[in-house]
Amino acid sequence: MNTIRSVCVYCGSSPGHDEIYVKAGHLLGRSIAKAGLRLVYGGGTKGVMGAVAEGALKAGGKVTGIIPRFLINKEATETALDRLDELSITDNMHERKHKMFEKSDAFVALPGGIGTVEEIVEIMTWAQLGHHRKPIVFGNVNGFWDPMTALLDHMAAEGFIHTAQRVKPLVVNDPEAIVAAIMVAGSSVDAPTEGVQSVIDKM
Ligand code: AMP
Repeated sequence: MNTIRSVCVYCGSSPGHDEIYVKAGHLLGRSIAKAGLRLVYGGGTKGVMGAVAEGALKAGGKVTGIIPRFLINKEATETALDRLDELSITDNMHERKHKMFEKSDAFVALPGGIGTVEEIVEIMTWAQLGHHRKPIVFGNVNGFWDPMTALLDHMAAEGFIHTAQRVKPLVVNDPEAIVAAIMVAGSSVDAPTEGVQSVIDKM
């Protein structure tokens, strides 16, 4: 049985220089909605974050935004937040991250900045500590995450990742293939993740 009901997307609050990033956000949001899954995200209406929400809402999807009070009017407008079907306003970043984790069955990092890296790395550290086995995906649009995967490989090669089998994020280049990859991973939690990645590579 597949346990995936909701997908958390971490991504930039900026649009990036190449329009491919915003487009990827839109496509991912739409495919989450079309699969009948709930999008969980940081509530922002700008940059790639805004595009993911827009893509999901336009396709009739359910969207949960989780935003700290102090970021309203910085990363979002109150009018835009009204369009979400579930809104959670938190007191701080820690509460936001915890709620995003609790409400989500899988995690995707699309291109973004320091905030995006902080969020997805924390999810990987929790997997490493054995707190969860939820799928983690790098949406590798334009090879954006190649330096991150190279760094992870380097850490493993140098003997600093002792739980590599637990922290083996999936790498998916095509934003429209991400949901399918998550569903495969969600239905084979006990299978080795290398097996899942090879299924994805053939998609
Ligand atoms: P960025 O990738 O820097 O554009 O940020 C993407 C999202 O991460 C935004 O919603 C930021 O508010 C959020 N963010 C930034 N710093 C942090 C942090 N230390 N912890 C959690 N989220 C953060």
